[in-house]
Amino acid sequence: MNAFENAFNQIRRAAAVAEVNADVLMILSHPMREVHISIPLKRDDGTLQMIEGFRVQHNNWRGPYKGGIRFHQNVDIDEVKALATWMTFKCAVANIPMGGGKGGVTFNPKEYSEAELERVMRGWTRAMRGVIGPDIDVPAPDVNTSPREMAWLADEFGDPAVTTGKPIEAGGSEGRGEATAQGGYYVLEELFEDVSLEPEMKSVAIQGFGNAGRTFARIAQRHEWKVVAVSDSRGGVYNPEGLDVEALERHKDETGSVVGFAGAQEISNEAILELECGLLVPAALENVITQENAPRIQAKVVLELANGPTTPEADDILFEKGIHVIPDILANSGGVTVSYFEWAQNKVGEHWDAGEIDRKLKELLSDASRQTWDRAQKYKTDLRRGAFALALERLSETYTQM
Ligand code: NAD
Repeated sequence: MNAFENAFNQIRRAAAVAEVNADVLMILSHPMREVHISIPLKRDDGTLQMIEGFRVQHNNWRGPYKGGIRFHQNVDIDEVKALATWMTFKCAVANIPMGGGKGGVTFNPKEYSEAELERVMRGWTRAMRGVIGPDIDVPAPDVNTSPREMAWLADEFGDPAVTTGKPIEAGGSEGRGEATAQGGYYVLEELFEDVSLEPEMKSVAIQGFGNAGRTFARIAQRHEWKVVAVSDSRGGVYNPEGLDVEALERHKDETGSVVGFAGAQEISNEAILELECGLLVPAALENVITQENAPRIQAKVVLELANGPTTPEADDILFEKGIHVIPDILANSGGVTVSYFEWAQNKVGEHWDAGEIDRKLKELLSDASRQTWDRAQKYKTDLRRGAFALALERLSETYTQM
């Protein structure tokens, strides 16, 4: 099953247990627009290379399309369609007035110089003129893109409100860098007792040590969670007594990986998912928890900071085992929520302080968590179906008022 079929399957599964408008379901099973581009890249050695890029605009009933741009060698249109679809639902769950979009560029950015990356980002932006815009479609960072890429995008386009996730000096918002992980933490905090976590279960394993994963590790440790294992694309490290996150971040910055961190044993990216711990946080790529490894998952709760880490078959296995999966469209919606705050500040030329951003983020995500929990209880189902049901309710409401 490709990534888009997987995403739509999740929606269908929610629709099967909740009351859903059939027209809405049919419309949402198709992105409104898919744009394919070819970016001519002049390499530093003077040769020319053509690179493929995408933007998928899934739905804009609730507001401009919103979603990140991913640089990765495996990005294809189905993955971008899936990610764009999740954005529509994520914005509806967080209750922000934005729709769903996503972008991608199919190349391995690690094999390119900074000057080449800038030419790719600017080339993508030129090709997307007329497709993106502050009131049309507002991109943001995703895997392998960062505030640096967003500053290039905004500069090439000529308006900071065209993108979010920018550096503060280029019109970015306070709190955006930490937003995904911070939001995930607020969701966890709100649902802590509902998902039957106990204070003595505060140990966490995190797959992925990038923006989302490492920030979550830092926040969790600050709140007295024991971070027992983390990993990145090169492998993982494990210490049942807990890792020193600050030292680990220094090690990652100096060596490029968490691997080789002193005072910890090595662990594979597969084994980290199966560790005995209170909380498992997938914060890397899709489809890592499957029907094959789900029976061996021992965590009490899974908090999906990554998009689409759990397949529908694995969802059923975990639900039967009594493991709560706090779904991506709720767990990682802090990123798009603060993106929305950034966009709103750019539109009116304001800069809100960090305290205000944090307060608004906590308020929206605590409410989204409570509403998701209530839907899951009402329909006697898992939190993913609860979150999709909530989003479908809100999307149907907008549709019927149009
Ligand atoms: P990132 O590029 O900063 O980090 C990705 C991390 O995953 C890196 O540590 C990388 O080494 C690791 N990784 C890559 N391949 C791996 C593999 N095969 N096994 C284990 N680790 C691997 O990206 P990010 O922004 O932290 O995003 C991570 C996930 O979170 C993605 O699914 C993304 O869509 C999702 N997400 C991010 C944000 C955000 O604001 N950054 C918001 C919502 C969702």
